[in-house]
Amino acid sequence: MENIRIQDDLYTYVNQQKLEELVIPDDKPCAGGFVELADSVEKIMMGEFEAMAESKAYPNEHMARACQLYEIAKDAERKEKQGITPALKALSALDEIKTPEDFSKNYKALSLKGIPTPINIGVETDMKDTKRRLVYIQGATVILPDASYYKPEMAPQKEQILGIWTNVAKMVMAKTDLSPEEQEKYVADALAFDEIIGGLAKTSEEWSNYIEMYNPMDEAKVAEMLSTIDIGVILTDLFGHIPETIVVTEPRYFGGFTGLFNADTLVLYKHWAYVTGLLSACNLLSEELRDMGGMYMRAITGVAKMQSIEKFAYNLAAGTYSDPVGIYYGEKYFGKEAKRDITEIVYQIIDTYKARIKTNDILGEETKEKAILKLSKMGVKMGYPDKARVIYDKLTFNPDDSLFDIMLSLKAIRELDILSKLDKPTEPENWAMPGHMVNACYDPFVNDITFPAAILQAPFYSLKQTRSENLGGIGAVIGHEISHAFDSNGAKCDENGNINNWWTEDDFKRFEAKVNQMIEQFDGIELPWGKVNGAFIVSENMADNGGMSVTVDIMSRTEGASYEEYFSNWARVWCQKAKPEYSQLLLAVDVHGPAILRANMPPRNFDVWYSTFDVKDTDKMYIAPEKRIVIW
Ligand SMILES: [Zn+2]
Repeated sequence: MENIRIQDDLYTYVNQQKLEELVIPDDKPCAGGFVELADSVEKIMMGEFEAMAESKAYPNEHMARACQLYEIAKDAERKEKQGITPALKALSALDEIKTPEDFSKNYKALSLKGIPTPINIGVETDMKDTKRRLVYIQGATVILPDASYYKPEMAPQKEQILGIWTNVAKMVMAKTDLSPEEQEKYVADALAFDEIIGGLAKTSEEWSNYIEMYNPMDEAKVAEMLSTIDIGVILTDLFGHIPETIVVTEPRYFGGFTGLFNADTLVLYKHWAYVTGLLSACNLLSEELRDMGGMYMRAITGVAKMQSIEKFAYNLAAGTYSDPVGIYYGEKYFGKEAKRDITEIVYQIIDTYKARIKTNDILGEETKEKAILKLSKMGVKMGYPDKARVIYDKLTFNPDDSLFDIMLSLKAIRELDILSKLDKPTEPENWAMPGHMVNACYDPFVNDITFPAAILQAPFYSLKQTRSENLGGIGAVIGHEISHAFDSNGAKCDENGNINNWWTEDDFKRFEAKVNQMIEQFDGIELPWGKVNGAFIVSENMADNGGMSVTVDIMSRTEGASYEEYFSNWARVWCQKAKPEYSQLLLAVDVHGPAILRANMPPRNFDVWYSTFDVKDTDKMYIAPEKRIVIW
């Protein structure tokens, strides 16, 4: 092992041995940290599913259905017999589309059949009045992992990735009943249509500024933008009436819509929808097709092999019945004592945050009050919900159907359910993440944090770890999620989650200066697999910074606190070994920075990092005091 000094590279110093030992599984793009926990949860729950399937004893009806779906999904012989037919049958809905007007009349049918469309209509929380919902309209997603690959400077990567996609598409198309010439043409047309989308669609960086999604317009204005289709017909079909307001999430895309979708491009669209629709259906067809369909994603993430049929079946079932599966996991594997302890930590962090806001030098008195109010009203969801959403009672299926048709029928039930909620109040009591998910989040439009049971374990958290270790792990992550309430997006929403300017102009100017400093701190950092885009990941970096400042504050008041343990566990939770293809992809699509930077960048902003390890200006993890940023 190399002689790494903690003062130069905290991440490698702490994780060196682990990184040497870690083996990336054949069916995964990375290993360690979050992935390791997710693997262990997956293993536990697969065992549970197997035992339930064996004994036919289920804790409730939802889990019985999840288990039934699991068994259907892992029946290779059954799927083989049905072959590609179920997907081709669904895709035949495209035959009805002979003119752009036909598209309007058939939008609902296409959407319910899972066929890709150039517009996507959904119902979401009204960002300016979070008690109610609005219709949102979004464009299509490109074949490439992100629309940014269509930028001229990304041409070499684009060529390479589309080359892989083209090969996979041709293999899958050879399984259809189309002639070889038709197959060629379909794939070529799909690529041509995708290029048009690519010139208009938002990039991940643009999506990361989620406040900019909010562009409410009246129907007349939207109809004018989408003059090649009849949006009135589509909306009436979906809602029984034309809603007053439609939120246009991608103004550039819809501004160029008539050039993208018209009588001349209709065939390109149909072929694009056919090929991309078929490729995404492969997952639910025979094992041979599941293998083929996954080749593209595996190639661009560096994954060697497809998931075993058992893992695939479990993940499909657990994803479809996520509330019940999460509750089952939480009740069985997450103790009451842990929930009490962790909830105590959360409120300690919120209180500390409030105290820090009081002495903060960005905010004036008036704004401080608003920030504290936002913290006081923040909801806390720890572990798992008490009961599953009502929709799970409706998620039934005919077990004699093919897996593809079962999933299609379940998707339709969900879609119709959400459409039916347009004029009903929102349900902030719903959990954004299920109990068995190794993740955590802040919902800006509810103003609450969610920590599923699955993340509340070592190295993040354990009753067996020291308080310092827990603060460096789950504590800093809780602080991170709370900080999202005050990151570059969250700061624009008030205590009820409504987009609302609660800042004075001067306060906001000082805040923006900090945002820019944070962008600068990360922008252009060179890693072996590419360069970091500071603006794209700024919200997450602000959250990491906030999470550390609030927990370092608690550490300073904790008896017997060990900063060595604190920083070491912070580095430990980010331990990750990834395939280079995957790391490269994440730079373009993930709003979070690379794991090594998340471990190594935040500490150097805090004086206690320097005093604990005697870090000097000759050390790599040193930055000059005037460059250190503490926001909250
Ligand atoms: Zn985050």
